[in-house]
Amino acid sequence: MDTLRELFKIGFGPSSSHTMGPHKAALKFLEQVKDLPVQHFVVELYGSLAATGKGHLTDWIIMQTLGEDRTSIIFKPEVVYDYHANGMKFFAYDENNVQLAEYLVFSVGGGDIRELNESRKSQNKVYHLSTMNGILTWCKENHKQLYEYVLYSEGEEIFNYLREVWQVMKSAVEEGLQREGLIPGILGLRRRAKSFYERYLRTKDFTTLIFACSQAVSEQNASGSRIVTAPTCGASGALPGLLYSFQLYYGYSDEEIIKALAIAGLIGNVVKENGSISGAEAGCQAEIGTACAMAAGACCYLMGGDNQQIEYAAEIGLEHHLGLTCDPVEGLVQVPCIERNPIAARRAYDAAQYALLTDGEHIITLDMAIQTMKETGKDLNSKYRETSTGGLAKFKLGRR
Ligand code: SF4
Repeated sequence: MDTLRELFKIGFGPSSSHTMGPHKAALKFLEQVKDLPVQHFVVELYGSLAATGKGHLTDWIIMQTLGEDRTSIIFKPEVVYDYHANGMKFFAYDENNVQLAEYLVFSVGGGDIRELNESRKSQNKVYHLSTMNGILTWCKENHKQLYEYVLYSEGEEIFNYLREVWQVMKSAVEEGLQREGLIPGILGLRRRAKSFYERYLRTKDFTTLIFACSQAVSEQNASGSRIVTAPTCGASGALPGLLYSFQLYYGYSDEEIIKALAIAGLIGNVVKENGSISGAEAGCQAEIGTACAMAAGACCYLMGGDNQQIEYAAEIGLEHHLGLTCDPVEGLVQVPCIERNPIAARRAYDAAQYALLTDGEHIITLDMAIQTMKETGKDLNSKYRETSTGGLAKFKLGRR
């Protein structure tokens, strides 16, 4: 498995697969053609990138990167590669319209890109183990906690990066709690986090605090602000919202939160390696389900859970999102995406509490739930995989 730096990416919303990935691909293509006499670019967007690219600003980010005045975008939602639904092909032409280069690439989730038939598993073996069962066994044999496996694999330096991640997460919560007004986009959604937080200040109700903080980050993401993928942009609110609530309510130190973040990252990495964190590939179970599993494991650790209970909490978090479809209304990462984050954060807390009532023994392991999620994702009709053609997205609400 790769470093947690590749899971927790600091960037701008609203979508890791539809904005961060295409941005990375466009930069890579620019590098490939930098010595050629390019006059203009044509970029074809396929499958889900074409179906919901407008709402996710895919065309905008590519044009910004390649040059607005010399780039044309063609949307081809009917072209879907078996390899992944988020395909795009870049073409470069000279002044005589002679093609100089082409580049077919896929945005496979969480801002990562891959070429056709390239292995989806990470080529960087920063972690020598990639299943949670294997990691639990290693921890047992070496008398270590899960976060110590992250330190063992990546070295102390990764905690410095996680400190940076935590600062960005905190800023996203705090800024989101202060902002009011409408979220950009035709749905005319009004921000809610600030009013939730004001309600919390009056009631001191912990659930209200969780809802406020997770909602704050998701509203920031939907507005194109700076967030951390956890594991994606669309699912970036659950984990920081829950961790922030724990710190504010119970007074956990930054260092304890960093260890919890490491555990959340390890869980997300195992899902990314063996399942999927891409809504276009496996539905929202892969995004919000994974976010819930990460948050559940992190808060189970903070509440004193041992490795087995943490794994159980994460398994519950994922299992109870199995089958969840990806159906963003009008192709925007807003409805149902924003609301799913606070609800998943609270569910993560419940999963941790449930696991802590047990000794950690359970039948369905996290690895089994991940495998099931991947297979279920494959079986989902394409209209439920970020194409905005089915599910809630069938309601064309238009400008409001
Ligand atoms: S429905 Fe879920 S997977 Fe789809 S865009 Fe929204 S958050 Fe991402």
